[in-house]
Amino acid sequence: MAALCGYCKKEPTIEAHIIPKAVVRGFRQRGPDRKTMAIFPERAVVSNIQNGIFDPNILCQTCDGKIGQADRWFVEHLDTFHEVARDRQAYEIAKVAIDTRAAIQFAVSVIYRASLSKLHHFDDVSLGPYLMRAGEIALASDHADFDEPIVMINTLISDAYDTRQFVFYPVRCRGKGGTYFVFTASGVQFLVKFGGNRNVIDQGSNFTQLLRLHTDSVASVCIYPFEDSAEAQFLSRAGRLRGPQRY
Ligand SMILES: [Zn+2]
Repeated sequence: MAALCGYCKKEPTIEAHIIPKAVVRGFRQRGPDRKTMAIFPERAVVSNIQNGIFDPNILCQTCDGKIGQADRWFVEHLDTFHEVARDRQAYEIAKVAIDTRAAIQFAVSVIYRASLSKLHHFDDVSLGPYLMRAGEIALASDHADFDEPIVMINTLISDAYDTRQFVFYPVRCRGKGGTYFVFTASGVQFLVKFGGNRNVIDQGSNFTQLLRLHTDSVASVCIYPFEDSAEAQFLSRAGRLRGPQRY
C-alpha cells in the first residue's frame, strides 16, 4: 500500500525531492565536471550526488506542488545571493532585495521535508513538536505571516572553490542557544531554528538579531568564507577538501 502524505494525510505520496531538483540540475549545467556534494552527520558519509535525494514516502502531488512555489522562488533568485557577495569582504553583512517571506518559506520547507523523511540520511533531522507548524509555513498561502521560526542566510564565498557547486543536505547543530538546522543549496547557507533561545548562534547577539529574517524585515545575508564554515571542517575531516578541482 502506498504511503499517505505526511502533511494532508489524505493522498498517496509521490517522489519528492528534499532539496529542489532544479538546484541540482542548475548546478550540473554550470560545468560537466561538477558534482553535488552532500554530507551527512554522525555517519560521516560524504557523497557525490548527481541527481539529488528524493523520498517517495513524504508528500503527495498536491502538497509537493504547493511547496514547489518556494522551491521555484529559490531557483529563480539564487544568483542574486552570489551577485551581492561578489567583491565583498568575508563577514560583511549585505542587504538583499528578495522576498523575505519566500526565503523563510523555502528554508523551512527543506527542513520540513527532511524531518518527514525516514531515510537514514536524515535520522537526526527531526522537528519534533514543531513539525506541524513547519508544514503550515511550508505550504502557506501568499498572505500568511511567519514570526515564529528564526531563519538566517549566509552566502558562502571562497577564492579556492566555486561555492555554487556545494549542496549540503540538512544537518542538526547544537549551540548554547539550543538546536537548529543548517543546509546549503548552491553555496547559499540557511539556518532554521524553532523555539528556545532567540539567538541562533552563541556570540554576537546584535549580529544574529540583524540577520534574523521576519516576514516584514529587509533580508540581510552574511558574506561568509566557505573555509570557515562547518561544512568545510566536515569535508576536511573526511579528507575531501585538499584543494581546488578535487571534485
Ligand atoms: Zn498531501
